[in-house]
Amino acid sequence: MSSHIAPQLAEIIGKIESAAEKSGRKRGDVRLIAVSKTFPVSDILEAWNAGQRLFGENKVQELENKVPALPSDIDWHLIGHLQSNKSAKAVNLASWIHSVDSAKLLRHLQRHAEAAQKKIKILLELNVSGEESKEGLSEEKDINEAVETLLASQWLDFRGLMTMAPLAAGESERRAVFSKLREKRDALSQTYKIALPELSMGMSNDFAEAIAEGATFVRIGTAIFGKRDYSN
Ligand SMILES: *Cc1c(COP(=O)(O)O)cnc(C)c1O
Repeated sequence: MSSHIAPQLAEIIGKIESAAEKSGRKRGDVRLIAVSKTFPVSDILEAWNAGQRLFGENKVQELENKVPALPSDIDWHLIGHLQSNKSAKAVNLASWIHSVDSAKLLRHLQRHAEAAQKKIKILLELNVSGEESKEGLSEEKDINEAVETLLASQWLDFRGLMTMAPLAAGESERRAVFSKLREKRDALSQTYKIALPELSMGMSNDFAEAIAEGATFVRIGTAIFGKRDYSN
C-alpha cells in the first residue's frame, strides 16, 4: 500500500546529496530528518527498512504512541512547539528538541533532564523572518537569556538553531531567512565562544535553498510520505 515511501526517500536523499555537492559541501554534512507526523507506524517502518534512522514528530502525544512501537535505534527529533507541561515526556521520548523558544521552557527541560539523568540536545527556534504568526525567539534579549540558560545547564546540550521560512515566501525571501539564521549562529558562536554546529532549516519545498545556506538538518515530510491528512 505504501510502496511509494522507499523510492521517494531514495529520491530525496539523492537530491540532498546533489544540493550539498553543488554548494561545495560534503554529502554527510546534511542529515535528513524524515518528518512522520500524522503517518502511521507502518509507514515509518517502511522508511526504517530502507535505512532511515532520524525521524521528526511535532507532537509529544504522537511520539508517545509511536516510540514504543518502533525500533529502538531511531533517533527521534521533536520539531513542533513544546508546552512546558509536556517537557518531562519530551525529555524521555526524544533525543533532540528543535523547537525551544523560551528560557522558561529550558528551565523545565533542565529539571526533567536532570531527573532522568538524560542529556538532551537542544536547538533554539528563531523567528528570523519577523512574521507575526511564527513561533520562535526574535528579540535579542530573549535569545541571550535562552542561550545563557542553556550554557548554565549540564543536561541540556546546546547544538544550534532552527527556523522555518514563511510558507508564502518566494525563493529569494526564503534564502534570506536561511542566511540570516546562519549569520545569527555565527554571531552567537563568536559572542559566547561556543561551537554551534547545527542549523535545522529546509522542508519539502525549500530544502535545496536551505542546504545552499548551510543547513545541517533538513526536515522533510510530504516529499517522502505524501500529503498529510489531518481529518482523522
Ligand atoms: C511538518 C513540518 C515539517 C515538514 O514539512 P513538509 O513540508 O511536509 O516537508 C518540517 N518542519 C516542521 C517544524 C514541521 O512541523
